[in-house]
Amino acid sequence: MEVVRKIDDLKALRPSWPRPVGLVPTMGYLHDGHLSLVRRARTENAAVVVSIFVNPTQFGPSEDLSSYPRNLDRDLEFLEREGADVVFVPPASEMYPGGYPTWVDVEGVTSLLEGASRPGHFRGVATVCNKLFNIVAAERAYFGQKDAQQVAVIAKMVHDLNMNLDIVVIPTVRETDGLAMSSRNAYLGSEERVAAGVLYRALTSARGMCREGCLDAALVRKRMADVIRTESLASLDYAAVVAPGSFEELESLDGQALAVIAVRIGATRLIDNMTLLD
Ligand code: AMP
Repeated sequence: MEVVRKIDDLKALRPSWPRPVGLVPTMGYLHDGHLSLVRRARTENAAVVVSIFVNPTQFGPSEDLSSYPRNLDRDLEFLEREGADVVFVPPASEMYPGGYPTWVDVEGVTSLLEGASRPGHFRGVATVCNKLFNIVAAERAYFGQKDAQQVAVIAKMVHDLNMNLDIVVIPTVRETDGLAMSSRNAYLGSEERVAAGVLYRALTSARGMCREGCLDAALVRKRMADVIRTESLASLDYAAVVAPGSFEELESLDGQALAVIAVRIGATRLIDNMTLLD
């Protein structure tokens, strides 16, 4: 497994790779959710490239860029074990040299929910993914359903800018109580960790309602908010029922529908989602 820090060094390696190539973009502090992406990429490609980059441009000024958890040595051990071929770990100055001016703006989906709560977040995500796609030139890139709105933004960017790669989406990997694995779970104290199970309970309660025949999105939203309110350490940022591609809110659930929530547990903001009608 090669660890590469410079864009030119990564590009110089490209001709030696067997095709197809799968890219797994991450911000590191890897857990089993990330590794499920790597495993899937390993089964579908002749070479697997994993990037580890805590992308500063997707963090707002009051967000957790400086405290975001990092452990490169442990990440590299995990990736060696999973059979990754190349790990790309660029410093921020390599990706964004001084005065960096070029951005990718996907309109529409980026203005809703996560985009509304985190202005500029998806511009940073789309830009860094476009850069990574150009640097690695993979046939496929792997993303988690855990960040469903991110998937919608990337899929739209790839389609609209006619990019030459396939986006593969992997189901959310969960802890035993249903909490979606996330690097940010490391911020939770032990009481908060127990409280964080409320996100999954809210989503499964919403799904249960739909399975019993409720088609009224407002009632489903209210149910999620009610479940979150049962947990004193939790405060709701949003709970919504949306169309999976556009993230526009639905009124009635007669087609594909995704329940999405963002909740603060103490100072930690967590997001999760669940398909309501399969
Ligand atoms: P991150 O390091 O948080 O930027 O995540 C890197 C990739 O891993 C993204 O495509 C995430 O959606 C995906 N991912 C994060 N957590 C999970 C999870 N619990 N299950 C599946 N994929 C995940």
